[in-house]
Amino acid sequence: MNLNAGLPDDFNPSSFDVIVVGAGYAGAVCARRLAEACGSKVCILERRGHVAGNAYDYRDEAGVLVHKYGPHIFHTADERAFQFLSRFTDWTEYQHKVLADVHGTLMPVPFNHTSLKLAFGEERGERLFQKLVATFGMDKKVPIMELREKNDPDLSEVADYVYENVFLHYTMKQWGKTPDQIDPSVMGRVPVFVGDDDRYFPLAPNQGMPADGYTAMFERMLDHDLIKVYVGVDARDLLSTADGVVNVCGRPFGGEVIYTGPLDELYGFDLGALPYRTLDMVFETLDMDQFQPVGTVNYTVSENFTRITEFKHLTGQVLPGKTSIMREYSRSYIPGVGETPYYIINEPENLELYRRYRDRTSGLVNFHVVGRLAEYRYYDMDGVTASALELSDEIISNH
Ligand code: FAD
Ligand code: UDP
Repeated sequence: MNLNAGLPDDFNPSSFDVIVVGAGYAGAVCARRLAEACGSKVCILERRGHVAGNAYDYRDEAGVLVHKYGPHIFHTADERAFQFLSRFTDWTEYQHKVLADVHGTLMPVPFNHTSLKLAFGEERGERLFQKLVATFGMDKKVPIMELREKNDPDLSEVADYVYENVFLHYTMKQWGKTPDQIDPSVMGRVPVFVGDDDRYFPLAPNQGMPADGYTAMFERMLDHDLIKVYVGVDARDLLSTADGVVNVCGRPFGGEVIYTGPLDELYGFDLGALPYRTLDMVFETLDMDQFQPVGTVNYTVSENFTRITEFKHLTGQVLPGKTSIMREYSRSYIPGVGETPYYIINEPENLELYRRYRDRTSGLVNFHVVGRLAEYRYYDMDGVTASALELSDEIISNH
């Protein structure tokens, strides 16, 4: 990979055909495809000191491979995205499992057959499970908000239990709101599962971890003669837009610009800041082989952090006597002070503000927005990859 720290004094944007802002999935996938399919010379500007965006992983002082920006587990039903990424990595067989700590009892999330029996006892849990099967069918995913609407005393009992013990307090910590105050698609990510599959992503056809880590996968994706990566460079220092033209280093740029950062930042927040949630991630290394039984434990009724992840479960790394864990504390994001906008907030007024920023970019020639930040969408890694593949298809077909 052609990686450079900072820009050289003689940096000349016109020696490139494409400028990509951001070296996460959105930027890296587009860069690779345009270099390969169009023979474009691509310059990536990344303000952090590394590639891979929020999927970045590295070895901490104890030698444990950890995820700097939160636990990342690849799972997808999108064959094309999976095949594209598989060019740059092998995958380990990891199947993510999450337990909820409900007053000291650890039960699978998504809430499933096993969780029902732990919550209601063997016999009653089994009867309630049979009722769920009769109502929804076996191996079905049922969003909690849908379950709550059922007018049946047994189903209401399950719904009330799950709402109170799995969703309410966790969601209050994560979003500062109750589940019914936020978009149903957010709770829908973690449905009640009417079945025995105790994986966090039940029925996901492809799921695993890049065998050498995410950063290594990105390094391979960006390892191409026509791609140059500049880290530690904030594109806002170079890029400006006016009268339908994108200027780079004060001159109109004739090539394509692919922007994967937040749109409000690009315009100096002049219509107002787009709201996000950020996370404080607190890492700790412990002198023990293993801290908890699975990759992630969600604290759904207690504590002021949402979850603890133990990375060795995720990566399969063998390292006796040491393990690293991380607690996530969620809070409101403060714009313009260098915090990380981790989660978009899917509410109509925010989407409307986003649309106003987005409308402004549509008048810019050869300027493209893609990614979780730039599209203001709650994308997983496969969704961003798919979106970047689509955008690059479009650019390639117009080339
Ligand atoms: P990013 O990864 O945010 O990359 C954008 C890059 O652009 C960043 O590196 C940023 O520094 C750079 N940038 C922005 N503005 C500028 C600028 N002005 N100049 C230069 N560079 C700039 N997905 C899953 O599929 N599975 C998971 O288990 C999972 N877990 C997650 C856990 C957490 C806590 C979070 C927050 C997300 C998780 N995701 C997960 C989602 C995943 O992180 C995203 O889908 C993916 O990283 C988005 O890629 P992206 O390229 O759009 O954005
Ligand atoms: N959620 C919850 N309890 C859980 C797991 C999830 O209340 O044990 C809710 C919570 O609002 C969370 C959302 O479901 O933000 C989506 O969860 P997911 O694990 O997909 O979130 P992410 O991994 O993106 O942080």
